[in-house]
Amino acid sequence: MKYILGIDIGGTNIKAGLVHNGKVLKKITVPTHAGQDPETSLKQIKTTIGHFVNSISKIGIGIAGIIDSKEGIVRYSPNLKGWQDIPLVRILEKEFKKPVRILNDVNAILLGEWIYGAGKGYRNVFLFTLGTGVGGAAICEGKMLFGAHGFAGEFGHATINFNGPRCLCGNYGCLERYVGSRYIIELAEKKVNLQKSALSRYKELTPRIIAIEARKKDAVAKEVFEEIGQYIGIAVSNIVNLFDPEIVIISGGIARAGKVLFEPIRKTAKEYILGYKYRKIKIVPARLGDSGGILGAAYFAC
Ligand SMILES: [Zn+2]
Repeated sequence: MKYILGIDIGGTNIKAGLVHNGKVLKKITVPTHAGQDPETSLKQIKTTIGHFVNSISKIGIGIAGIIDSKEGIVRYSPNLKGWQDIPLVRILEKEFKKPVRILNDVNAILLGEWIYGAGKGYRNVFLFTLGTGVGGAAICEGKMLFGAHGFAGEFGHATINFNGPRCLCGNYGCLERYVGSRYIIELAEKKVNLQKSALSRYKELTPRIIAIEARKKDAVAKEVFEEIGQYIGIAVSNIVNLFDPEIVIISGGIARAGKVLFEPIRKTAKEYILGYKYRKIKIVPARLGDSGGILGAAYFAC
């Protein structure tokens, strides 16, 4: 029996899983060591594949960044130090003698959710990933949207306020600058300094803690989610007005926050989407969690 290996390469971890019939059968996680040089993380990738190599027929890999799927080259990855124009497919095919395909990590998550998860059965789907970074990807008319150069969907750096604060990318007022994890925490900390809140009991805040307190009706935590829900709602409205999808999927850790996040998103989207009542638009959390990227990458390899 030969399986497909799906790999999700992030800035912190490499997650790999044996995939069969849309299920992850066996999964391992190893550190990426992304802060060193390309050789070090490449070695980690090879070791990971080495674990599985005898039981697989193909390899699919999702990586954050500008990924040229056609040529099999990682053009640039913000998470991996020194990765520029790395012909990853050629390197791995030479080493393991198996077909390898690579794609952007958010595209991989969307493929996973589209084929096996929240987007199953739809022809027009948009997915946001919310984490340290914010990303996007689209299925249009039943096909993944890659764009002319393969770089479509970089929605984290869509400007939602050109007078806004500076983003790590150098521009001002990007979506990520408002709803990336570190900025959610920053917003909460600012509010905690001004108002009484259960959040002040925590030494270090995380989006998860803020979500837990928001569900317990802490006013400050709720305010944080209302505010970021509004920003995400604006982003969703822009996408819906542009692409007219049937479903928008929100993935990433904070998508698990539930109602406290989705109510303000839906409320804002309703206000800003043109012809809202004529559309049947669903805004839902992702379903596959960590496995989405692995399943999508494996599917892409087929
Ligand atoms: Zn930016």
